[in-house]
Amino acid sequence: MIVGAGQAGRRTAELLRGMDAEREILLIGEECEPPYDRPPLSKEILLGEKRPRGLMQRDVDAYEAQRIALSLSTRVTGIDLASGRLETVTGERIAYDSLVIATGARARGLPLPGAEDPRVLTLRSMADARALHARLRPGLRLAVAGAGLIGLEVAAAAIQLGCAVTVLEMGRRAMARCVPEAISARVETWHRSAGVVLEFGCALTAIRPEHDGLRLTTGKGEIVADLLLVAIGAVPNAELACEAGISAADGILADACGRTSAPQVFAAGEVARIWQEAAGRHVRFETWQVAQHQPVAVANALCGVEKPYAELPWHWTDQYGRNVQILGAQGEGLDWIERVEGDRLACLGLDAGGRVQGAVLIDNGREATPLRRIIAGGKPLGRQTLLDPSVALRQLV
Ligand SMILES: Cc1cc2nc3c(=O)[nH]c(=O)nc-3n(C[C@H](O)[C@H](O)[C@H](O)COP(=O)(O)OP(=O)(O)OC[C@H]3O[C@@H](n4cnc5c(N)ncnc54)[C@H](O)[C@@H]3O)c2cc1C
Repeated sequence: MIVGAGQAGRRTAELLRGMDAEREILLIGEECEPPYDRPPLSKEILLGEKRPRGLMQRDVDAYEAQRIALSLSTRVTGIDLASGRLETVTGERIAYDSLVIATGARARGLPLPGAEDPRVLTLRSMADARALHARLRPGLRLAVAGAGLIGLEVAAAAIQLGCAVTVLEMGRRAMARCVPEAISARVETWHRSAGVVLEFGCALTAIRPEHDGLRLTTGKGEIVADLLLVAIGAVPNAELACEAGISAADGILADACGRTSAPQVFAAGEVARIWQEAAGRHVRFETWQVAQHQPVAVANALCGVEKPYAELPWHWTDQYGRNVQILGAQGEGLDWIERVEGDRLACLGLDAGGRVQGAVLIDNGREATPLRRIIAGGKPLGRQTLLDPSVALRQLV
């Protein structure tokens, strides 16, 4: 039984079917759509592309063909560990032998009066993306709360569609949680050149809905917007697990194979806080990569095979046709150096011993594979070697 028919749920079901032809598999999800991958929601779908690459949405027949029973529009409301049963919103009780919780996350809401106004939106699902796309029109005044990946992708799409866009960010720079300052500065330049107004150190403190717009009070004064998109992070959908007594702390605690504190119950994808041996702690990833690859560990564990999940963190964003890939560590304390080759950039984060610990690539995805190996290898390489344009990164692996 797999609860949550998103990317991690689909991957777990399909991988499991590939390993075990006999097992009964039920994939149960609350959305009315068959599973899909979310990255295009804040990119191609907002720009109105009908068949975005990367949506990975198979039709219902594909599940039938794989003998995966797919139950859509069905919210699971409870797990009874003692009897090994789930309860759905209609009161139906379904027995399981093994359970995978792949319930993902939801967009964090703004805890302010006025946030319930229909002109205040978030973006998590296909339905959210379609609703937002339908409202983006030339001249619309769009405010975006949050200059993280999703907020900035929406800002980029909206300005390209002719909206007047203002981004309000409490922190001091763009994408501060996941890239070094030099990359934030570049991304901010793309937005400002396109006409987006970026306001930093600017917390949204009040929303006053009025007939001609939303009056938004910020630390820097008031602005009026026709629409406010709140993009201030995600909250894991771990309540089902918590209420059942499964250990959770900002995500369901799981070992590197996805096992939770309850026997025969696993956690997959973004809802899981996974034990990472290299980091020496549990980590929750909000990335496509974890939803795609951590289910490999879960499906194997379900078949009695140990295959711990231990990938180097990787994710990306696309804005204004530019591709930014983010690998490995991004924390403070790294010395960032830049390798520029024409329009391509590799920004490398070195520790005190001269080892590459993290990297950000702009329009330079071909360097992701050598960099993964360089980071995993942990060899001290030093600034001079890494900056030498005559030495290809793949030679340093
Ligand atoms: C707009 C957007 C853009 C993104 N862009 C990128 C990107 O460019 N690059 C990148 O690396 N990552 C990106 N991500 C992150 C990445 O796609 C997610 O982390 C990924 O979707 C996680 O997959 P998941 O299957 O764990 O969770 P989800 O995809 O959230 O799937 C969970 C499913 O479970 C369902 N569910 C929840 N509770 C219940 C319940 N009680 N009963 C039944 N069903 C339930 C949910 O409705 C949902 O369908 C993006 C995310 C979003 C939202």
